[in-house]
Amino acid sequence: MDDTLLMLPGPTTVDPRVLKAMSDNIVNHRSAIFGEIFTETTELLSEVFKTENQSYLLTGSGTAAMEAAVANSVKPGEKILNIVGGKFGQRFIQIADSFGIDAQELAVEWGTAVTPQQVEEALKNDEDIKAVTIVHNETSTGVAAPIKEIGKVMKNYDALYIVDTVSSLGGDKVDVDKYGIDICVTGSQKCLAAPPGLSAITLNDDAWKVIDNIDSKTYYLDMKKYCKSGAGTPPETPYTPSVSLIYALFEALKIIKEEGLDNRIARHETAAEATRNAVKALNLEIFPDESVSSATVTAIKMPEGVTDSDIRGIMRNKYKVELAGGQDHLKGNIFRIGHMGNVSYKELAITFSALGMTLKGLDFDIDMGAGVSAVNESFL
Ligand SMILES: *Cc1c(COP(=O)(O)O)cnc(C)c1O
Repeated sequence: MDDTLLMLPGPTTVDPRVLKAMSDNIVNHRSAIFGEIFTETTELLSEVFKTENQSYLLTGSGTAAMEAAVANSVKPGEKILNIVGGKFGQRFIQIADSFGIDAQELAVEWGTAVTPQQVEEALKNDEDIKAVTIVHNETSTGVAAPIKEIGKVMKNYDALYIVDTVSSLGGDKVDVDKYGIDICVTGSQKCLAAPPGLSAITLNDDAWKVIDNIDSKTYYLDMKKYCKSGAGTPPETPYTPSVSLIYALFEALKIIKEEGLDNRIARHETAAEATRNAVKALNLEIFPDESVSSATVTAIKMPEGVTDSDIRGIMRNKYKVELAGGQDHLKGNIFRIGHMGNVSYKELAITFSALGMTLKGLDFDIDMGAGVSAVNESFL
């Protein structure tokens, strides 16, 4: 078994209990016994989303739920406003494009967060916008967007509020009902700490009113079908779901409940602070402004004179710690440390111990223990 420490913004290491749950035998996915597991899993998901709405499971990674959100709620030719400050914001534009939806981009510089004022301005200037998409936690840049404050702006407009919480749900504050989120999506393999391959979506009555009047162009991800099957006895999915992954997610959600969502978010906040302090103690620079930095992933500027493969290669090959690189134009310019899911003191101590040694080995003039000391201070 590979014992490399995954310090990635997904997939994240899963608890042995989750692995064990996944090895249970397969049952009929259209049986009462599976219906029960399915119901409890979606109810736990709604608790984590903090919503009274029904949640739906989709067999497919987070992108499937992003696609379901857009393809079901906006007609071809209609306008959607996509807020883009990184790779995942861009993905919403590409999805809209592929369904012939008129994608309007509200671009912010990568490494910064959109402001509620900018969103208000864009909505004021175009009354035809039917929906707004935003990525809560832009994993590619390590930036968290003010989804609560933007929710207040959205309340004054008819446009649906679609939020991607793939890399934040279960690790940062998300309150679907309070923030006025109409459609919220997430994935299994990030802060929820389940294996990759499942995504979830929750939709409120305003969203359903729109969806019920749209003849969606997506077949597999047609939410009307999921709604109908989900309301049956026993509740089902329109097509065969990934039974084993649902066992795994169910167990992962039980673990979240045992830890307590607030405790879990506090743990992520401590891990994020420890990471930022340790990065600075090793004379490295954080890529985004700290006022908007993510609670679940930290993007770090690549120091001068070394390459991505120097740092991440040594970390992986010599110390068995897997970090993430940059994406698109940030490739080679940043590297990222994921501190989501089950990450806590132990993982960060190893990571920063190894990063100190890696930098020392690359002839940086640093105190190689300064990073791990900063982690210790944060957790003391
Ligand atoms: C990981 C991620 C996704 C989905 O990616 P998949 O590879 O399809 O799971 C979407 N949005 C954000 C912000 C993500 O971090």
